[in-house]
Amino acid sequence: MSLLSPREHVDFLVLGGGIAGLTFALEASGHGSVLVLTKRQRSEGSTQYAQGGIASVLGPDDALDLHVQDTLVAGAGLCKREAVEVTVREGPERIRWLLSLGVEFDREGPDRLHLTREGGHSRRRVAHAKDTTGREVERALLAACEARGIRIVEDQVAVDLVTSGKAGIGGPNRALGAYVLDRASGDVVLVSAPITVLATGGAGKVYLYTSNPDVATGDGVAMAYRAGAAVANMEFFQFHPTCLFHPQAKSFLVSEALRGEGGILRNAAGEAFMVRYDPRKELAPRDIVARSIDAEIKRRGDDCAFLDMTHLPKSFLLDHFPHIYATCKEFGIDMAAQPLPVVPAAHYQCGGVVTDLMGRTTLPRLYAIGEVSCTGLHGANRLASNSLLEGLVFGRRAALCCADELGEASGPAPALPEWNPGDALAPEEGVVVAHNWDEVRRLMWNYVGIVRTMKRLDRARTRIKILRDEIREYYWQYRLTPDLVELRNLADVAMLIVECARQRKESRGLHYLLDHPKPDERWVRDTVLTRGDLE
Ligand SMILES: Cc1cc2nc3c(=O)[nH]c(=O)nc-3n(C[C@H](O)[C@H](O)[C@H](O)COP(=O)(O)OP(=O)(O)OC[C@H]3O[C@@H](n4cnc5c(N)ncnc54)[C@H](O)[C@@H]3O)c2cc1C
Repeated sequence: MSLLSPREHVDFLVLGGGIAGLTFALEASGHGSVLVLTKRQRSEGSTQYAQGGIASVLGPDDALDLHVQDTLVAGAGLCKREAVEVTVREGPERIRWLLSLGVEFDREGPDRLHLTREGGHSRRRVAHAKDTTGREVERALLAACEARGIRIVEDQVAVDLVTSGKAGIGGPNRALGAYVLDRASGDVVLVSAPITVLATGGAGKVYLYTSNPDVATGDGVAMAYRAGAAVANMEFFQFHPTCLFHPQAKSFLVSEALRGEGGILRNAAGEAFMVRYDPRKELAPRDIVARSIDAEIKRRGDDCAFLDMTHLPKSFLLDHFPHIYATCKEFGIDMAAQPLPVVPAAHYQCGGVVTDLMGRTTLPRLYAIGEVSCTGLHGANRLASNSLLEGLVFGRRAALCCADELGEASGPAPALPEWNPGDALAPEEGVVVAHNWDEVRRLMWNYVGIVRTMKRLDRARTRIKILRDEIREYYWQYRLTPDLVELRNLADVAMLIVECARQRKESRGLHYLLDHPKPDERWVRDTVLTRGDLE
């Protein structure tokens, strides 16, 4: 039996319980009934792993214009200025909101937050809670949801959106809810809602090496694409420069704040190499640092690079980075005494489901907020610590807009088709799913990684096409499992990334194409894909 009743109907169906989904839920709960679904435990998502913090203009030497400017520079010509301006302008109020919910940011004094500086920021402006900011924010948001009686149901995997078009209901195509797989029972139930909100986070799992948790399989982007919403700029995938290189560390992320506080990148010979790649050295934007590490590792044939913090006092490291210090220690590395072995790993999806400034997608009644969305804030590259901020700002904006829209959209639950399992058989070839998972991720890492060529992109496309056909066949033959749902989504997202990358015949921001190594003015525009473009 599913944890959801067979025919759930709510005003706001929120898929995802990270910073974006929970912000939305809290802001919308006064306007209608809210149901938040999470794929695994309620706190599991990228939000709770965020270390560095949240960027906002809070310091005495800072100004909104400076944050706007830094974001535009990182975005390499593709940011939407209005999206940047609203995000930056509304940031300080969002931090105060978090404080009012009880988030314990580090402080310099009773009235002043301690702010760190990260790569690409011209000022110290990153509010943080030690090096476990995300965990603290997620804790406070969940506590606030509980206090307000907001219903959160765990272990529910949204499979596909329900649309009026597919359900055979007249009028313009619009979202009407989702089909949801209960992890424990394997049942699929229909949840109908006049407003559906995608807050499903990113898709780091599409790459072999990633800093993202297991839930980050791009489900929201894949579902939105299949339902007919526009998806854009998927070629811009940010690789975090420094994940711990250790066989047992499942891509543990070593925060950028370490470089901000003076960490030095060295190669295996002990040389500080960043000076050869960029005058800003360790404080260059993360794509440049990631590419530099990649190039240095490849140039020398090393397995990894090293982040050296040994010149800083141990007490400073323990005070500022207790979580990173303790985790590295568990792996037998004392960062006060030896440099940390690091490699780049897939970290953040800058593109996503296209939205306007209120989080509305191109499919009516469907909203997208947080990492799943493409609001125009990040353009071709995300400025560090702008993503938690985006979830906070757009979570609230979407809630305001939905509250208005609900008035015209609410009503009794429409008659919608139940999930039809057809003649699906019990899954028996788990090996097929596991093999294809691995193949997609390895293929993406090798052919569609930090440095790309047209030839490799074409190869990737041919192979992913075959994989998608195979997955599709398997999908309709066997009963759904969470792994199968995710595999199908990963393959769709992989194809969206490849297709966007093939279209963009230039190098810009995070998309580095050896065949066209320079930016090209003709490409100052988004790469937008809609249903049918992949076939
Ligand atoms: C290690 C790490 C460190 C980071 N550090 C920072 C930082 O310091 N500052 C910063 O600004 N950003 C940072 N980021 C990025 C930032 O954490 C994310 O962009 C942000 O948390 C995304 O929030 P979200 O609400 O969109 O999604 P998430 O927090 O990822 O939540 C996604 C939710 O969607 C649910 N979900 C997914 N698919 C389905 C489905 N099919 N059905 C139902 N539910 C589903 C998940 O269960 C989860 O609840 C970091 C990311 C990582 C991985």
